[in-house]
Amino acid sequence: MAARTSLSRIGGRDVFEKAYKFMTADNARAMGVYPFFRPLDFNNGPEAQLEGRTVIMLGSNNYLGLTTHPKVREAARNAIDKYGTSMTGSRLVNGSMRLHNELEQKLAAFHGKEAGLVFTTGYQVNIATISALLSNKRSVAMIDKDDHASIYDGVRLAQAAGARMVRYKHSDPAALDSALSEIADTEGALVITDGVFSAQGEIASLPGIVEVVKKHKARLLVDDAHALGVIGPGGRGTAAHFGLEKEVDLIGGTFSKSLASIGGWLVGERKVLDYIQHFAYSFLFAASAAPPCVAAAMASLEVMQEEPWRQEKLRENFTYMRTELQRLGFELGKTETAVIPIYIRDDLKTVMMWKSLLDDYSLYVNPFITPGVPPKQQVLRTSYMATHERKHLDHALEAFEKVGKKFGVI
Ligand code: PMP
Repeated sequence: MAARTSLSRIGGRDVFEKAYKFMTADNARAMGVYPFFRPLDFNNGPEAQLEGRTVIMLGSNNYLGLTTHPKVREAARNAIDKYGTSMTGSRLVNGSMRLHNELEQKLAAFHGKEAGLVFTTGYQVNIATISALLSNKRSVAMIDKDDHASIYDGVRLAQAAGARMVRYKHSDPAALDSALSEIADTEGALVITDGVFSAQGEIASLPGIVEVVKKHKARLLVDDAHALGVIGPGGRGTAAHFGLEKEVDLIGGTFSKSLASIGGWLVGERKVLDYIQHFAYSFLFAASAAPPCVAAAMASLEVMQEEPWRQEKLRENFTYMRTELQRLGFELGKTETAVIPIYIRDDLKTVMMWKSLLDDYSLYVNPFITPGVPPKQQVLRTSYMATHERKHLDHALEAFEKVGKKFGVI
């Protein structure tokens, strides 16, 4: 979760003042070590092109490698031909089409839930769901400290309506139990956790969390952005991984990772989703997911089921990388999924390693530095795809070994 910087506290009449004083990015650009917002020429899967150079991509959430799949491309193209580029309106009014409803039914059936709701982004799923369900001062959001920024933002909106936020120790059902014990019987409680934590690649302790949620008669929302297509039988995510799909009230996620598109989804009870679609401003007053995006996500969901080898190959790839990176002596935390963070725990070293990996070894990884992560949590975040071949991974391992040694990390 991004920390607030001292710049954000700058006051005064001119609200632009903080922008004029923001020099970090300019300084890094001047030094040639600015890692962000770099435009790729192409992003075709395991290999991408950056400023005319081919790089091995270890920084994308295209877990199943479906962004270039012929069937997914064709579905998006056909949807444009048939329906145009955008619905130019909100789901509530002119923005819904049968395509949205069809995907909602498919996502619900996939997860064994009564109903589904399609959103424009995954970020919107959390903002809308949390703010709609926690809408007064007798509501409490119980969140894992390491939950995604969109969950925090959803809670901020709920707080504006009077709700409270309680953060429990990361992936700790006992801490959640004592937090829930402290709230009044009259307070509503929604527990929200990432299924797979987006920076750590760690799977939430769902069995313990579900037990505590049931004990306190709270409700549970699991954000499965990084779990769909990656874990669980058939890629059905965290709840399925633990055999707990029926016990989790709401499961949400995004189209922007395994589903190779842009958009978001939520599945659960029909009445609850119906309430959310009538009461979440961020859903009601935003344009719906565009037809090609919905069609691409739907095709990806189908390909995911038709080609189970993708999930198996993804698992083989990330297991290989985790084992080999650990053997080289890197610190990886508790990852069990396609996200493998390499802990560096220092801003400058993280950026210098990122630069060397890219410039000297054509390896694309994502540096997570402060204030995007808390101090001492800096990582090189790597993520893997079903379409990485062993040659890509072995090249990456060689680069990590050389750069890790050069910077004294291993
Ligand atoms: N939840 C989690 C855990 C995420 O990692 C992300 C984004 N990457 C989102 C929600 C937001 O999804 P989207 O990119 O579709 O807005």
